[in-house]
Amino acid sequence: MTLCSLLEIKLSLVNPEDHAGVMLAERMWTAAGQPATRRELIALLERFIVECGKNGYTYAPIFLRRKREMQRRDWAPRETRHEEPTMQVAADACPECKGIGYVAAADGASGSLCKPCLGRGVKQNGPAAIGRAEQLRARGERGAQ
Ligand SMILES: [Zn+2]
Repeated sequence: MTLCSLLEIKLSLVNPEDHAGVMLAERMWTAAGQPATRRELIALLERFIVECGKNGYTYAPIFLRRKREMQRRDWAPRETRHEEPTMQVAADACPECKGIGYVAAADGASGSLCKPCLGRGVKQNGPAAIGRAEQLRARGERGAQ
């Protein structure tokens, strides 16, 4: 589980310039103990938006939209859902990330763009794509310091 999967945010719809901000959000979510309730997520997103401002990150508009939707109760995380199979996986979905475009690291303390699909969530191979993912990741790590 990642914050993006919980909030149903698809990295394929996020501008590459905002990916470092996405990784910051994932790190903050993990550091906060992976909260899943509406109230906790609203608080987390508020902190995230403030952190973005402090650190010069840009954030994808979908984060602000989710926060507002949760505040208006127009949308809620599906943390009560236990059945994974209800999630539809497209035929051309990336097998690595199941179309989410984001993978949690093995240590559980961080995450990164899905390299095979470069966060697009669809099958995509080739050294060019991997090189680009490395670039984005390096930028995200630098930005975190
Ligand atoms: Zn993928």
